[in-house]
Amino acid sequence: MLVAALVLAGRAGAAAGPVVVVYPGHDRYANSQSEPIGPGSPVRKIKDGGGTRGVVSGLAEAELNLRVALRLKPLLAQAGVRVVLTRSATAGKSIGNVARAGIANRAHAALFLRIHADGAPSPSARGTHTLYPALRRGWTDDVYVKSRRAARLLQAELVRALGFPDRGLQERADFTGFNWADVPAVMVELGFMTNAVEDGLLATSAYQQRAAVGLCRGTLRFLGRPITACG
Ligand SMILES: [Zn+2]
Repeated sequence: MLVAALVLAGRAGAAAGPVVVVYPGHDRYANSQSEPIGPGSPVRKIKDGGGTRGVVSGLAEAELNLRVALRLKPLLAQAGVRVVLTRSATAGKSIGNVARAGIANRAHAALFLRIHADGAPSPSARGTHTLYPALRRGWTDDVYVKSRRAARLLQAELVRALGFPDRGLQERADFTGFNWADVPAVMVELGFMTNAVEDGLLATSAYQQRAAVGLCRGTLRFLGRPITACG
């Protein structure tokens, strides 16, 4: 039933405008089951380690990611982009990255946007960075160039919107959610929740809105649409 609804959403989107699948990173509960890191791979990783937590705010990363996604959705909708969220509450056990990529694939998404925030052992680590799939024949060769372009645009707009240090781009060959994606995919790390300054700012509605505006602008630039709708 869910699958059918998503497929229909994808078809409707193709007629009405592009579909962007937004995954707010993690969920309320981690999922320690494993899954192959790519189609046919003997290498497996756990589905979801659960994410980080704000060192000052105490906010769970999953909740911050969701708040930004819920602010992003209406901005993109104003621009005629149909948004499919992989979750709309922080309430359950993580479904894992193969399932999330499947949602993006079935929706024929123009972009699979994964929203996360970072954590590090060092409290001084800070800044924004964006990850995208490394090139691997049979897995990501069909989406590599577009994903890299989306990552560049999203990183630039996020840094402009948030004003955090620019940690640049990173290719990843080991991300399950990238290797299973048949559509362009990126993962943004908004900032470090283990850094007191960035956590304190990201916990505010003003910075969550800034993040959403930056993501909206980057997404619309990637789609070749005017960014005026983003505010
Ligand atoms: Zn995360």
